[in-house]
Amino acid sequence: MIEKQKLDDLIKKNEKLNDIISSKPVLWFNPQKQKQQKSQSQFSFEDVLEAEQRLQRFSSYIRVAFPETESLQGIIESEIKEIPSMKKAIENEYTSELPGRIFLKCDFALPISGSIKARGGIYEVLKYAEQLAIEHRLIQYNDDYAKFNEEEFYEFFRQYKIAVGSTGNLGLSIGIMGAKLGFQVTVHMSSDAKEWKKQLLREKGVEVIEYSSDYSKAVEEGRKQAELDPMCHFIDDENSRDLFAGYAVAATRLKKQLKEENIRVDEEHPLFVYLPCGVGGGPGGVAFGLKQIYGDHVHLFFGEPTQSPCMLVGMMTGLHDEISVGDLGLSNRTEADGLAVGRASKFVGKMMEPVLSGCYTVDDEFLFKSLKLMMEREEIFMEPSAHAGVYGVISLMKEGEEYIRQNHLNMDKATHLVWSTGGNMVPLTERELMLNKKI
Ligand SMILES: *Cc1c(COP(=O)(O)O)cnc(C)c1O
Repeated sequence: MIEKQKLDDLIKKNEKLNDIISSKPVLWFNPQKQKQQKSQSQFSFEDVLEAEQRLQRFSSYIRVAFPETESLQGIIESEIKEIPSMKKAIENEYTSELPGRIFLKCDFALPISGSIKARGGIYEVLKYAEQLAIEHRLIQYNDDYAKFNEEEFYEFFRQYKIAVGSTGNLGLSIGIMGAKLGFQVTVHMSSDAKEWKKQLLREKGVEVIEYSSDYSKAVEEGRKQAELDPMCHFIDDENSRDLFAGYAVAATRLKKQLKEENIRVDEEHPLFVYLPCGVGGGPGGVAFGLKQIYGDHVHLFFGEPTQSPCMLVGMMTGLHDEISVGDLGLSNRTEADGLAVGRASKFVGKMMEPVLSGCYTVDDEFLFKSLKLMMEREEIFMEPSAHAGVYGVISLMKEGEEYIRQNHLNMDKATHLVWSTGGNMVPLTERELMLNKKI
């Protein structure tokens, strides 16, 4: 816990903390963002390209193991989609006029596990599987990786274990992918994880351990138990370079997609990207990749619930994982279960210092309003967490005037990209409950 005196000092230095403490939606601009990226020592764009190649090698396996990826040739990717009706709805309800175009990055529809975790989570499982298979001479890099679908591989991976701590979606990705390959998977689930996610994993033969506490505790317990077992690989949501690399591959794919749609990103045409943020790995990886590609022409913002602004608070104070939302008297309770994280990843927070334009917060009420609107206007279902992305556009229009002026941004030619992080796995009965929720 942070002492009262220290908290008072922090508030003196960061006035916005007062609004954050009283759980008002805020928009914070990152003063450490740099023009022109400094070279990153811990992680480089090479790592991203290597991850992309690895995913390419595995595409022939993914294709046979998950036939729904056939049309994508075994590449786990989502489309981008313009949402003009939702744009009108936002203009009517929240801002008078919204210059530029709004697109959705449809990660809610990613194959296999229906959320952004299908990028990082699946990637890390595949990388571990490849490493084991190479070490034991089951495969060589230029073989056809469809072999991973054979019984012999399944029996081999059966000896190994994978463990992860999760609020739900990461557990789903790791569990589905790991179990498919043959691994014994254990998911340590925080209290906010939804019942249907636990059930689905158990049906796949995954061991689910439930905790009555929040995400950080579930990760900590998982890490402790895995350390005792040399046959167990722990997927560390708070510190993993592999997860980060898997997420970052999204950037190279997006570049192609924008090109195909004739959407320009340059001095005249700014790109704004709004990413829902939990512990930080998913949005951080994507942001890192996009910054490498677009430099000063991309403006990256993270969205968090008003009760769980861990990345905002960590970056604003520079304390990263040494401050939790509980230190500010916030509850860390939100219906956006993927974002219910009280302490951010220090690894990601540090990486984001030169990269991120800012962070904003959004209340749960908006998430459900947006969930209904998106269904009515675009016939798209996204889970509550994903709607934290939608609020980014509104937050910027309400409070971003100075940022836009200082950076001389031509908003009429802007592209807004709302990263829709999840939704497809949510069962119909759950969707009904969310759509009919009284706000
Ligand atoms: C996990 C998750 C996020 C955030 O990703 P982090 O890596 O935890 O920051 C956002 N949206 C959804 C739906 C998620 O499951």
